[in-house]
Amino acid sequence: MEKIEKLVIIGSGPAGLTAAIYSARGNLNPVMVAGRVAGGQLTLTTDVDDFPGFPEGIQGPDLMVNMRKQAEKFLTRFIDEDVVSVDFKQKPFIIQTESQTLKAQSVIIATGASAKWLNLESEQKFIGRGVSACAVCDGFFFKDKTILVIGGGDTAMRETQHLAKFGKKVILMHRRSEFRAQAALVNLVKSKTNVEFLMNFNLEEVLGEQKVTGVKIKNVETGEIKQLEMDGVFIAIGHKPNTDFLKGQIDLDEQGYIKVLDEIKSSVEGIFVAGDVADHRYRQAVTAAGAGCKAALDAESFLEQLHVVEVTT
Ligand code: NAP
Repeated sequence: MEKIEKLVIIGSGPAGLTAAIYSARGNLNPVMVAGRVAGGQLTLTTDVDDFPGFPEGIQGPDLMVNMRKQAEKFLTRFIDEDVVSVDFKQKPFIIQTESQTLKAQSVIIATGASAKWLNLESEQKFIGRGVSACAVCDGFFFKDKTILVIGGGDTAMRETQHLAKFGKKVILMHRRSEFRAQAALVNLVKSKTNVEFLMNFNLEEVLGEQKVTGVKIKNVETGEIKQLEMDGVFIAIGHKPNTDFLKGQIDLDEQGYIKVLDEIKSSVEGIFVAGDVADHRYRQAVTAAGAGCKAALDAESFLEQLHVVEVTT
């Protein structure tokens, strides 16, 4: 007889893993398709000081390992592969991973978001050769070097803070004269003696032969073009939801975020959503975890109505 899962969770950041903990404890026996690079954005972070319960802070990767252990303790089954495609137009729903075809009565999508690029030809050419979107991953390679960070939000501040530990000089360049980042983070970065600010400039071109040696930048007000010597360029301009595999299957907005009803429901009954994949606004580990909990509880109610699981109360 073909196996039909009660619940498949796609994505293994705080949203997906919290959904796994709750749904496993709710007797839904979930399968998690965790992705080949499991754990989400927190695995690319160092200090997490704002997740409740850790007064001394916790390292992002450690927090994700702990959450996964907790989900495993309640017997979540993990598939460490990417989802290749889905078919939500038929029931049971079909989820195709790299090596398996899963059938499910309900699905929670928690695939998060990935770093955005400027999409300049020269930027793309030098990715891995001086251009990066992850200071935690690549900062170490820029010890005593001159580094440019681009962006004006919290991500740009966090990246600059991290890179200041390595770089001889870190220049934070923003296209406006005001940052949108939290004042506390801006002040933290301002306190670093090796950080300089460059306001009202956009990146025109990354320069170099084999690796990055400089940048061409343009003043947005005067049109002035400048060339600066540079060893590294970090793009920190926000994130894009990981929803390419969902196109044509559920409703997405113009930026690719999943459209949700009542915070958690997608446009297809039985498909629930949690975390940054639908969250334009908060994008915090703790809000993602909260959404994962709500998605698991809603999936449980949905399955109870289908008489797939027994009502336990
Ligand atoms: P964000 O707030 O959307 O900021 C993106 C920044 O990049 C903006 O300053 C924007 O400029 C700039 N930008 C966007 N496109 C650009 C382009 N094409 N060229 C040049 N600059 C460009 O994104 P975020 O910083 O990733 O933050 C997103 C959310 O995550 C926020 O809610 C934030 O609080 C949260 N977050 C929190 C932490 C934390 O430590 N608590 C860390 C990271 C993120 P403009 O300002 O001109 O639009």
